[in-house]
Amino acid sequence: MKAAVYDPQRVKEGQLVDIGDAPRPELKDGHMLLRVLACGVCRTDLHITEGDLAALCPTIIPGHQIVGEVVEGATLDFPLGTRVGVSWMGGVDGDCWYCRNHMENLCNHPTFTGYSVNGGYAEFVSVREDFAFRLPDELEDAQVAPLLCAGIIGFRSLRVAGVKPGEKVGLFGFGSSAALAIEVLQSWKCQVYVVTRGQSHRDFATSLGATWVGEEDAVPPTLLDRAITFAPSGKVVLSALSSLRKGGVVAINAIHLDQMPAFDYDKLLWGERQIRSVANMTRDDARDFLELARKLKFRPHVTIFSLDDANKALLAVKNENDSGSVVIVP
Ligand SMILES: [Zn+2]
Ligand SMILES: [Zn+2]
Repeated sequence: MKAAVYDPQRVKEGQLVDIGDAPRPELKDGHMLLRVLACGVCRTDLHITEGDLAALCPTIIPGHQIVGEVVEGATLDFPLGTRVGVSWMGGVDGDCWYCRNHMENLCNHPTFTGYSVNGGYAEFVSVREDFAFRLPDELEDAQVAPLLCAGIIGFRSLRVAGVKPGEKVGLFGFGSSAALAIEVLQSWKCQVYVVTRGQSHRDFATSLGATWVGEEDAVPPTLLDRAITFAPSGKVVLSALSSLRKGGVVAINAIHLDQMPAFDYDKLLWGERQIRSVANMTRDDARDFLELARKLKFRPHVTIFSLDDANKALLAVKNENDSGSVVIVP
């Protein structure tokens, strides 16, 4: 099959993945083989292929926002030809303390799609049957792909931040995940304050109904109840923190941060303000979000690349060329 493969030993200028032939995955117990219909490109894929995250395998096929159809290993739940989605959590052990306490996102022995097991930048992928999700029929393949990480983990970030209906919520950075989170926030009648660099991202936030939009260093005109940061930058976390009311929460939606700068505890964190990281996702997050996306008729704005152009797709995410989400269609 054709695939885009990341090899940490072979770094080439401007080329993060090699496009070529790879063995078609063999079917294992408890797994299904999917023909990939679309695969979203996430900033995490960039962190993997640029080496910000330590390599876990000698080579890996990235991609963890997979829309595919079942071609082998069909089950009662997923007959042949069923369209399913697969996200970042590729599996858990099911019996560690975290799994037993409804925190499978923190499992001690997880598998991560496109990081510790091969992902969806390929024509076929093998996935665990119990980590595949039914998808809303109303959505096209390329449009449903960004829901699978950008959407689900953005939704989890709102939960981690403890957002309640009607609250004032800040979104710091406005990429794929924030663009989906704002739709959820609007359905909850929240006021949304967006701080982001790039005029096109600010215009996009305005078009999606943000209450207020400001440049990178701008301060929202009111104190916020919650804030979510989407940029891999500690400085942005501090901007978010400085915008909070007492008791407010910042949730960091980033698997990797450059670093947290030193900050003034008395001014920024005192008053029971909190900073929380958002790690991975649970299957409940996925099911709840996909159901909400179906009800709200989400239609994410996507830019499509072919598998041959996987490097261009990664660079589009890196350079934030496009508003909305980047998707590879093999
Ligand atoms: Zn992701
Ligand atoms: Zn576990």
